[in-house]
Amino acid sequence: MNGTGAQAGHDEGQALPGPASATAPQQEPAGPPSGTVQQELTGWGRYPRTGTSVARPERYAELAAWAGQACLARGAGRAYGDAAVSAEGATLLMTRLNRFIAFDADSGLLRAEAGVTLDEILRAVMPQGWFLPVTPGTRYVTLGGAIAADVHGKNHHHVGSFSAFVREFELFTPGGRLRCSPAENVAAFNATVGGMGMTGLIGEVVLQLRRVPSGDMQVQHLPARDLNEAMAIMAAPEHDDEYTVAWIDCLASGKSLGRSVFMRGHHADGPLGHGPAPAKLALPVNLPALALNRWSVKAFNAFYYRWEGRKRKPFRCDIAPFFYPLDGIRDWNRLYGKPGFVQYQFVLPTASAAEGLRTVLDRLARSGNASFLAVLKRFGAQGSGLLSFPTEGWTLALDLPLRQDTLGLLDTLDAVVLEHGGRVYLAKDARLAASALPRMYPRLDEWRRIRRELDPDGLFLSALGQRLEMI
Ligand SMILES: Cc1cc2nc3c(=O)[nH]c(=O)nc-3n(C[C@H](O)[C@H](O)[C@H](O)COP(=O)(O)OP(=O)(O)OC[C@H]3O[C@@H](n4cnc5c(N)ncnc54)[C@H](O)[C@@H]3O)c2cc1C
Repeated sequence: MNGTGAQAGHDEGQALPGPASATAPQQEPAGPPSGTVQQELTGWGRYPRTGTSVARPERYAELAAWAGQACLARGAGRAYGDAAVSAEGATLLMTRLNRFIAFDADSGLLRAEAGVTLDEILRAVMPQGWFLPVTPGTRYVTLGGAIAADVHGKNHHHVGSFSAFVREFELFTPGGRLRCSPAENVAAFNATVGGMGMTGLIGEVVLQLRRVPSGDMQVQHLPARDLNEAMAIMAAPEHDDEYTVAWIDCLASGKSLGRSVFMRGHHADGPLGHGPAPAKLALPVNLPALALNRWSVKAFNAFYYRWEGRKRKPFRCDIAPFFYPLDGIRDWNRLYGKPGFVQYQFVLPTASAAEGLRTVLDRLARSGNASFLAVLKRFGAQGSGLLSFPTEGWTLALDLPLRQDTLGLLDTLDAVVLEHGGRVYLAKDARLAASALPRMYPRLDEWRRIRRELDPDGLFLSALGQRLEMI
């Protein structure tokens, strides 16, 4: 990647058009859409499995042509459920639209195509002392996917979500190619960040990166005996840090309900990093579905609580284990066996969070459905995205193996979340009922109206959007 303002790997016609408007003419003649093949796709949870036709556009001319047909963009497929599969048209694999276009090493402004992954960005910019302003728990997501889900990190309570750092992107719609930013085509911008791909196809993106002093983190862990203590630690200013998160032992019950390991960290001083190294371990086959059961998870959780909870003295570590512990094992989603798993992530407003979280953890512990991955974070104020998930409060994410009773259990958890004024994260969802959506996302109708203006014929419909009757 080049330095200040230089252009790299930039095909003719890829510059952002201007002036942009809802009827902006395309800058390239629209070529015929590339061919498709029939394929079965899943999200990261490997549930549900959906048959779809698949195409892999490589040039913007193809993307412009696809924007007039029923289709949906798919990034790295890290959304857990059915968000990245087209309901009735072609699913477009965007990962070949992955060129870096420009990087200003003085200002940290990056211009790249939507199929570039956060991993590729880190490896390119970390040696120059730059980092992502917001990063989810995996670096194997694309810029397009990060915008469409308006992803959040462990620093949401300080800086907000991904879209707060998106300076502009271009959106391919049936009406033309739009430049969207917080100042231009603002309605389309706000409907697209968090809009789960259903407003159009994101092409080029301009992202503001942040400076870091090194490739390392300064980290500290603290054990918390129960949920009250965990929330008190996380809310206490003296324990706050740039990034905070708590791992919760979901099988602990009674007096230990919600026992946790609180983890905090900030970028350490020292030599610049080279970006994260690729995973050395891989899970080559599906584990038998029974391998993760109540007893094996209970044993793991007890060990993890003691082992990680011991690290009370600040220590230094690479960014990868701090931000991306699961990326260390390729294909770790096979851990849950062939049936797959669901991730359930919800947020509750600050006022009702303690009671709501306790009820959810209690139901979970009683059900015996074993989640060995349960992560609690704090959210700050809501951003501008009409369907963005983060809203001020506390968010809990749980991985649950798909058993016979899992979906029924999650229905009861939805009722708790609704009762406490919360919402479920669509990027993780595979099973929510359509009736719950308007209560969870009060700006849904506003989003629908803007979406209809961008795509009157409902071409960009995902399987998730169809299930939740979003358009
Ligand atoms: C291990 C793990 C940890 C995670 N941790 C977090 C976390 O901490 N915080 C968080 O917020 N999320 C987290 N996620 C979820 C993940 O960040 C989001 O689901 C993200 O959207 C995935 O990006 P992707 O490139 O894989 O997109 P996909 O999964 O392929 O697609 C996701 C959505 O983006 C849309 N989309 C993708 N590309 C484009 C494009 N070019 N134009 C228009 N729409 C597009 C799709 O239509 C779909 O609706 C995690 C996921 C995993 C597997």
